[in-house]
Amino acid sequence: MIETDALIIGAGPVGLYQAFQLGLLGLRCHIIDALPHVGGQCAELYPDKPIYDIPGIPVCTGLELIERLQQQILPFAPPLHLGHLVNGLAPQPNGWRVTTDQGLNIVAKVVVIAAGVGAFVPKTLKIEGADRHAGRQLHYRMEDPSRFVGQRITVLGGDELALDWAVRLTEQPVGHQPQSVDLLYRRDVLSATPELLSRFENLRHKKRITQHVGQPTRLVSVESGQMGSIDYMTPDGHLQTLAADTVLAATGLSPKLGPIANWGLVLDHKQLVVNPATCETAHVGLFAVGDVITYPGKKKLIACGFHECVMTAYAVAEIVIPGQTGPLQYTTSSALLQQRLELGI
Ligand SMILES: Cc1cc2nc3c(=O)[nH]c(=O)nc-3n(C[C@H](O)[C@H](O)[C@H](O)COP(=O)(O)OP(=O)(O)OC[C@H]3O[C@@H](n4cnc5c(N)ncnc54)[C@H](O)[C@@H]3O)c2cc1C
Repeated sequence: MIETDALIIGAGPVGLYQAFQLGLLGLRCHIIDALPHVGGQCAELYPDKPIYDIPGIPVCTGLELIERLQQQILPFAPPLHLGHLVNGLAPQPNGWRVTTDQGLNIVAKVVVIAAGVGAFVPKTLKIEGADRHAGRQLHYRMEDPSRFVGQRITVLGGDELALDWAVRLTEQPVGHQPQSVDLLYRRDVLSATPELLSRFENLRHKKRITQHVGQPTRLVSVESGQMGSIDYMTPDGHLQTLAADTVLAATGLSPKLGPIANWGLVLDHKQLVVNPATCETAHVGLFAVGDVITYPGKKKLIACGFHECVMTAYAVAEIVIPGQTGPLQYTTSSALLQQRLELGI
């Protein structure tokens, strides 16, 4: 079990900036996100689109903003727990206990929910056989590519994630490789970075990955009840079958408020209601910032979320180190920040 001053749920732009503001006040914090990477909507929904309304940055892409925020929090190096969906939040005598779907257990004096539009979770397949084989031969994540040694793998999808899985599986060292890797996508146009597309094309050219165009229709069970193949419909209406021991579905992500809606917190149109002066919910020690909150005049903008992080940090400090925050301190004269920067932490 991990113990910390503050825990931030969500590593979107606002969650990351919250870590910086808490660090400035000398508070230790951890950050959890359901995604395997930081950045929330900026990284997931518009990585290459330009943003024009971040103060002091005339223009930057979603990914560039996240890279800058990551650089900004480096002096405080908050531990990141990625790929963890927070599914439990319970009050403790001196704070909150947070648990995740991957078995992480953190006790924090204060929790800041920066969950945006919710956790980005994989869209599940809605075809015959999907429910039966989910978690056994159908997976929505690929944690360890070496566990599929000797298997016939079908990867579903045509974006960065699907191609990354197909390429990583195929590039496993000898002795750890699957028997075959097929990629099935409804279109023949794939979308990924030029570097990944080129690695994929190279492996396809060498016939180490086979690409198929079509829409999956059914996961077919064999006599033992196990999945043996996947049926799909080609664009010209022909039903085809691919032998498969495992299907890895990278069929997109959708945001789900999910567990947060079940924690008994006051919601207004699926937003957490907070006191705008402190961003505290109705529960002592439970704060929320960014797109997930509402108060009179709230705007779902990054700049608005950044302001909330400042208000929250001072209110959090009053709980964790009461009476010790002193007067407002500028970063231009922050001894703590200077020390961290000089140490190169
Ligand atoms: C196309 C598009 C363009 C935009 N352009 C602009 C713009 O130009 N300017 C601007 O200011 N804003 C813009 N926005 C809005 C901006 O992206 C959001 O205001 C901002 O991302 C909110 O940040 P956040 O950190 O609050 O939430 P998010 O970015 O939504 O991040 C929340 C994070 O919390 C995680 N999470 C949620 N629940 C859980 C859980 N239970 N367990 C673990 N993790 C969880 C999610 O996985 C996610 O990573 C745009 C949005 C979109 C969609």
